[in-house]
Amino acid sequence: MATGLAGVLGVSTHRIATFAGDKGKAIVTSIFVFVIVSLSDNTPKQLLEMAHERLLTIIIGTSIAVFVSICLRPVWIGQDLHNQIAANIEKLSQFLEGNFGKMGTLSWTVHGNLLGLCAYKIKALSVYLLHPAQVRYELGRIIVDNERDVENAAECLKSVLRRNPWDGDQVEIMAATTVASLLIDVENICEAVDEVASLDRVTSSWNKAEESTNKCMEVVVTDTEAKGSSSPAVVKRVIDVFWHEGMLKHEAGNGVFDSGKDPGFLDVLDKHPENADRIRNMVSILKRGPISPYISWNIGQPALIPQLLSFHTPEYINELVEADKEGGKMICAGTFLNPGSWDAALLAAGTTLSAMKHLLDGHGKVAYALVRPPGHHAQPSQADGYCFLNNAGLAVQLALDSGCNKVAVIDVDVHYGNGTAEGFYGSNKVLTISLHMNHGSWGPSHPQTGSVHELGKGEGYGYNLNIPLPNGTGNNGYSYAFSELVVPPIQKFDPEMIVLVIGQDSNAFDPNGRQCLTMDGYREIGKTVNLLATIHSDGRLLIVQEGGYHVTYSAYCLHATLEGVLNLPFPLLPDPIGYYPEDESFPIKIIESIKKFQNEEVPLLRSS
Ligand SMILES: [Zn+2]
Repeated sequence: MATGLAGVLGVSTHRIATFAGDKGKAIVTSIFVFVIVSLSDNTPKQLLEMAHERLLTIIIGTSIAVFVSICLRPVWIGQDLHNQIAANIEKLSQFLEGNFGKMGTLSWTVHGNLLGLCAYKIKALSVYLLHPAQVRYELGRIIVDNERDVENAAECLKSVLRRNPWDGDQVEIMAATTVASLLIDVENICEAVDEVASLDRVTSSWNKAEESTNKCMEVVVTDTEAKGSSSPAVVKRVIDVFWHEGMLKHEAGNGVFDSGKDPGFLDVLDKHPENADRIRNMVSILKRGPISPYISWNIGQPALIPQLLSFHTPEYINELVEADKEGGKMICAGTFLNPGSWDAALLAAGTTLSAMKHLLDGHGKVAYALVRPPGHHAQPSQADGYCFLNNAGLAVQLALDSGCNKVAVIDVDVHYGNGTAEGFYGSNKVLTISLHMNHGSWGPSHPQTGSVHELGKGEGYGYNLNIPLPNGTGNNGYSYAFSELVVPPIQKFDPEMIVLVIGQDSNAFDPNGRQCLTMDGYREIGKTVNLLATIHSDGRLLIVQEGGYHVTYSAYCLHATLEGVLNLPFPLLPDPIGYYPEDESFPIKIIESIKKFQNEEVPLLRSS
């Protein structure tokens, strides 16, 4: 308050002194100082001592600053500045040379934004260097001369730096400081782009693959829309969906979530999470949603008992047949075979086999078996986790029996695809990759842990790759897991057929999972897997439905996955609820540790 008052007094005195003219100013100021000194408790001697102390403090502080600037840290001139700028330009040149060539398809939006920002900064740099006061700099000429040839510019910049252009006068150094400041911005952007590029880890083959995807998926051209119309022909891609409404007849009952138990004190019980409603919505969204023009419907059919024996043991199948004859029972925790369930299970298996046969016979490239009850937990001799028959496993075996030498299974259901893994645990013809919540074993029906150490056995060692992800992994985490842990082994394995085992229970709102994917994440998964199929399996991709228990959002995530598979240039359906804050730092650490382990342990990944 005292300081403020003193300020007000000072300003007021100055104003009065100004009005008084040149002579009056001196008189007014003298009177003011005299009054202040008279009113204060300090004697003139004390005032002089105080002024002396203040002056000394200022001189010492200034001396230290000058000493540090000149002797200890002369950043504003000389080699340090040169090195700093050189490092930044080097980064810029690497960025210009590298990132334009290896830009991926997975995060174009992010790339686009960063590139836009970078272009803005580079433009600012070139405008600054074009200014008449600084145009003499060779660096400026290089950027201007090579405005349209960034790679050449990068080379020129490097060669100039080797000659050290900063040994100039003070004006040049000041100019260089401005250049450095702009380059620091560019450096930050380059680092961000590098980070995104490393998340994508896509090679130039991806760009070629995308082109070829566009070609191979363009299977139907509607003549009616093309003829007699000034608009260009409408090109449609198609996914062959295999479905039979008889699968809706499986009812797993009500209870506390999936337990089938009624404690007696709850007025309202849950429908079992694996209920018909979730599938009804998946059917209806494909029939009436924006993706419907891209869907071709095919009727599924029940599997025959002998067909089941290609994956399951006769004893196990007999157990299920007997259970059905006896009117049904709980086969294992949460897994209820009720009247109608066995027929639905046979339909699910047979419908998936029909979808695979459709591909094997060359009638289509992408088929989706929209089936329930799900199957990926069903082991050769054991039901588990709402699953009786392993629909995907049966389809994989059909592909092998039909002459396919290598089949890759990518399972993104939130739970470990233990049944499929178990079925091909000793085979080097089937590469099973499962991305799942790190839930571990859950009892006698699910003894497998899903850990990275379960790699297969015998010839199949290294052909079962588990990717247990932490809760909340989210879209970015999954994207990173795909680029680091899914794409590389698929590229090494080079499958002739790819099976995507899809569960929407990895979504952010699923009652059975905590992985926090949204529609964007599923869309990207669909796109990536389809690109892998285009590169490796002549586009042949079988998608098999597994879990996904949020009755409405699961349907949206299915829609998004198939949009991705279709490689559509923009989303057809906005996400109605999918906002989720992400923190991928922890999942990325886990993914890095899995990558390190697999690269050391898995022969397939070690081989060149
Ligand atoms: Zn699941």
